[in-house]
Amino acid sequence: MIYLDYNATTPVDKRVVDAMIPFFGINFANSASDHSMGVEAKNAVDKSRLDIANLIHAKSNEIVFTSGATESNNLALLGFASKNKGDKNHIITSRIEHPSVLNPCKHLESLGFQVTYLPVDKYGLVDPDVFEDSVTKDTFLISIMFANNEVGTIQSIYEIGRIARRHNILFHTDAAQAVGYVPIDVDKMNIDLMSMSAHKFYGPKGVGALFVRSRIPRVSLLPIVFGGGQERGMRSGTLNVPLIVGMGVACKLVHKNMPEEHKRFKVLVQKIYEEIKQNNLEVKINGHDIQRLPHNLNIEIPGVDNKWLLLKMKDFCFSTGSACSVLHDEPSYVLSAMGLDRKRINNCIRISIGRDTTDEEVNSFVDDINKYTKESVSVN
Ligand code: PMP
Repeated sequence: MIYLDYNATTPVDKRVVDAMIPFFGINFANSASDHSMGVEAKNAVDKSRLDIANLIHAKSNEIVFTSGATESNNLALLGFASKNKGDKNHIITSRIEHPSVLNPCKHLESLGFQVTYLPVDKYGLVDPDVFEDSVTKDTFLISIMFANNEVGTIQSIYEIGRIARRHNILFHTDAAQAVGYVPIDVDKMNIDLMSMSAHKFYGPKGVGALFVRSRIPRVSLLPIVFGGGQERGMRSGTLNVPLIVGMGVACKLVHKNMPEEHKRFKVLVQKIYEEIKQNNLEVKINGHDIQRLPHNLNIEIPGVDNKWLLLKMKDFCFSTGSACSVLHDEPSYVLSAMGLDRKRINNCIRISIGRDTTDEEVNSFVDDINKYTKESVSVN
């Protein structure tokens, strides 16, 4: 099997697994216990908090552990909206957000909040001027994803952050796909809330974090999970020490390797695109040429049905959309927001590479896809 679906999830790095194991076994203590085993577990959690904070230029007390980006997005949106209930009531987001942003927004609409869903252009970019034009005196929150999970487009985060700050609007970004792949500085980017997920960057599934700005402005959220008051009351529940330790180590590894991995991914992705394009000149990239995640390639191959291709190429794991839209067997709402009709969307595939992808794997993928593309185009 050749795995080319790193946007969906990544394997857990062996160094991450090794760091987690002691906390499943020898030291299984509750990090809130005040005996020596508990203190040791708490120290490990604190270290992980610091490693995560360092990666995004935050402070460790600004990291709230969650079960992943889905929960972080829910906590950011529902937690901040309920804190503001009765005050301002307008939220801005975009049409191409992950369902874990869109569905909490829909829920907030049912509670009386107003939500504006910004359009995107053909590259999947939100226009910061359109954002500014849609601000009203009631706007208190904007949630725009850092990078899109299907097409990899990276939003104009600096610009959006500046506009949000100028209008005193809190800025939340879902950075599940960006953390570990592009440099992030929450201060310079004026980000107030940011969602992260460990399994997108070689950490374990089921753990993530929400960055919650502690000063200028100090952001305060109401919890969505109530209990013993862990994570400064924002997310109750016994901390999952092994997974948290794993997320910290995964952060340290991407922090160290990012420049080199970024370069290698770009070269490989470009090679895949060029070799497919040589075989079929009509192939097009979905997403922005430059403002795009280095390891993502979403392409349209006219005349080739994506489901047919996936069946033919059983030895390769790539995708016809995001795991979430495939689950519902609906055409991608992201590609549709970028102006593609259903017929064109059925010709699109997403390839995403990662740390373990080799040149040989890429060569063998390109050989196969070119063979089947020729077969399909000649039949049609
Ligand atoms: N946001 C984005 C952009 C994602 O790609 C994903 C994962 N598909 C999520 C949120 C949800 O993350 P998790 O799997 O950690 O809940």
